[in-house]
Amino acid sequence: MFKRTKVRQLLETTHYNREVTVKGWVRTFRNNQFIAINDGSTISNIQAVIDFTNTDEALLKRITTGACVSVTGNLIESVGKGQQVEIKVTGLEIIGDSDAEKFPLQPKKHSLEFLREIAHLRFRTNTFNAVFKIRHALAFAVHQFFNDKGFVYLHTPIITSSDAEGAGEMFRVSTFDPDHVPRNEDGSVNYKEDFFGKATNLTVSGQLEGELAAMAFGEVYTFGPTFRAENSNTTRHLAEFWMIEPEMAFFDLDDNMDLAEELLKYVIKYAIENCFEELEFLKTRLSEEEKLKPQTERSELDLLAKLNFCLDNDFERLTYTEAIQILKNSKPNQKKQFKYPIDTWGADLQSEHERFLVEKYFKKPVILTNYPSEIKAFYMRQNEPDEQGRKTVRAMDILFPGIGEIVGGSQREERLDKLEQRMAEMEIPLQEMSWYLDTRRFGTAPHAGFGLGFERLVLFVTGMTNIRDVIPFPRTPKNAEF
Ligand code: ATP
Ligand code: MN
Repeated sequence: MFKRTKVRQLLETTHYNREVTVKGWVRTFRNNQFIAINDGSTISNIQAVIDFTNTDEALLKRITTGACVSVTGNLIESVGKGQQVEIKVTGLEIIGDSDAEKFPLQPKKHSLEFLREIAHLRFRTNTFNAVFKIRHALAFAVHQFFNDKGFVYLHTPIITSSDAEGAGEMFRVSTFDPDHVPRNEDGSVNYKEDFFGKATNLTVSGQLEGELAAMAFGEVYTFGPTFRAENSNTTRHLAEFWMIEPEMAFFDLDDNMDLAEELLKYVIKYAIENCFEELEFLKTRLSEEEKLKPQTERSELDLLAKLNFCLDNDFERLTYTEAIQILKNSKPNQKKQFKYPIDTWGADLQSEHERFLVEKYFKKPVILTNYPSEIKAFYMRQNEPDEQGRKTVRAMDILFPGIGEIVGGSQREERLDKLEQRMAEMEIPLQEMSWYLDTRRFGTAPHAGFGLGFERLVLFVTGMTNIRDVIPFPRTPKNAEF
């Protein structure tokens, strides 16, 4: 078999007048002469010019949008506009036919909603080529970042039995026949009969296991799928998403924030430096979409400017208490424009509040710290109550423009007595969590960590607006196609 050359390589070369073979999928076939072929190596197509007068009519008919072809010919400098090189075809083979009448992707602009319905084919569009290349680059950059710092990549279990994390609703894992579930005498489900001999579920976070490893390796991170059965049909929630969770011994909250900010800037910079073509494409795409919006809703910065802005500025750091003060006095609050008005300390912040702080007030990424303990998880380190007796924990959430929360983290409670006390208050079974508490019993140490939602990062970097469009096959309520 003649070795193929990737289109990316051919578009970069000036080594003309040689025979090359390209294999890819036909995007368009114009004038019975010009075939635009895409092989996925770049957004750009290569043009192959076929001499139709000397080509079998039946073969020409099979050159249709979507067909897979192998083209051999002479690589020449193009005389036409729009491309540097083209292939003068000497041999063409149809590898896989595509019925033009039935192929759903026509050479025109399709809506993202339509493309979502044909997610098995949307990889073949420029938009999704760009999005998933950037997704790849960001994943690679995450590993690069942590590897360079000596972190250990830890694989935490996907099936877990701990139900104490409280990060979200869980999917059950069971091999029971739903029509014949074994029951105890009192009618409750007898999980002893189930596959694992106990109730199990899909993980909502690898953090607790991450903490165990951090107490040996010092610095670890996870990067894996997590699952939340929360019924939130938003543009920022998936039922299955990927999360990056570093956990570091001897880190306090400030160290934790520094690391998170450094990580975000590193991976964004990596994308800018390595995904130039893809980002240029998405930038243009976004600005075309923005033009359809009313002036007041358009963003002031284009995609690349927005990314660079994020690199060039320190994230604004402030406490929850300070944020509440700002929100209380804000125009939308005073004019009762918030759906959830802010009147008391202790309220959980809604997306509208986060977006006000980030997009209207500070106009840059914001890190909120020291949230009320009531609205945060049991494992977060407790602060001394303030003068007014209000209890807070050393939590930090990073909020991004257009996204809202992208990172959630904290310094962990390393003091056994404080941790047990909080767990008892929150009615978390201490017995079941004994393995977790062992870290505090044997050589406990201050430590901290955070969770970065990978799809929310990809959303930000690609400028896409729906999280369903940055993961190949989204799982959301009432949808698990493909
Ligand atoms: P939110 O309030 O937006 O639902 P959360 O407080 O439930 O988020 P955490 O439990 O702190 O989020 O999870 C850590 C990170 O994981 C979040 O900052 C976010 O980036 C991401 N994340 C959380 N839930 C989802 C989801 N359903 N889909 C995609 N990403 C998510
Ligand atoms: Mn959530």
